[in-house]
Amino acid sequence: MPELPEVQTVVKGLQANIIGKKITSIIEIRSGTVSQKFDSKITGYGTIEKITRIGKYILIDTDVGLHLVVHLRMTGKLIFKQQDLHRPQHLRALIEFYDNSVLYFDDTRTFGSINIYRKTQKIPSIQMLGPDALSNDFSSDYLWQVLENRKAPIKNLLLDQSVVAGLGNIYVAEILFRAQVLPQKKARHLKHYEVKRIVAETKKILPEAIKHNGTTISDYKNVDGKSGEFQNFLRIYGKQKCQCGENITKIKQAGRSTFYCSKCQK
Ligand SMILES: [Zn+2]
Repeated sequence: MPELPEVQTVVKGLQANIIGKKITSIIEIRSGTVSQKFDSKITGYGTIEKITRIGKYILIDTDVGLHLVVHLRMTGKLIFKQQDLHRPQHLRALIEFYDNSVLYFDDTRTFGSINIYRKTQKIPSIQMLGPDALSNDFSSDYLWQVLENRKAPIKNLLLDQSVVAGLGNIYVAEILFRAQVLPQKKARHLKHYEVKRIVAETKKILPEAIKHNGTTISDYKNVDGKSGEFQNFLRIYGKQKCQCGENITKIKQAGRSTFYCSKCQK
């Protein structure tokens, strides 16, 4: 599942390829993929002005006051092509541009979506998000306050997008390993220095992963169809032996795989 570094890599790819392009049409191949979230009719989607990210959401703004809000979910991919040739196997929607180039939305598992809003509208899914993991608002003071009195394991809270936006199973495993904190530790039992380490490692690991174009474990791809390389730098997720020599433990937490080293993490 794409997490913050993968989504940021997609955003970079989109910025390099589709800014300034005029949209001629948005074609939905599988119903339920694209939805217009306002009443009036669209007379044109306009020209793409700006592409940003918050958490795992991609926001594509156009000059007629629209926001295209894309979430890739499990297996969504945005693939840019100069021409509409060789459509991918699981094409769910496509955006056509004035110069005949296209952006494919390919999604095997079909959980991804493109929702179209007016810029003036409040976007509920984005309003419920906590601070972006790379923003200054995600600080150790903030996290310390949020975790106080919470009984849930720290891992579950870091996965909760209303606590911090952008993290998923892979990066939470890596962050907690580098911060030397056990994933199942109750949030309220964390020491102040542990919370500080979690935030500091988050701010270190995410830019490293972005530098390596994200992590490809199963099928995440950039807009040019290339895989990420950060899987080569993972230390705990999907591994069997820790660098300390200890066997890595794998358990299930809230239905998701958790990896940790019982020697390095306390
Ligand atoms: Zn270890």
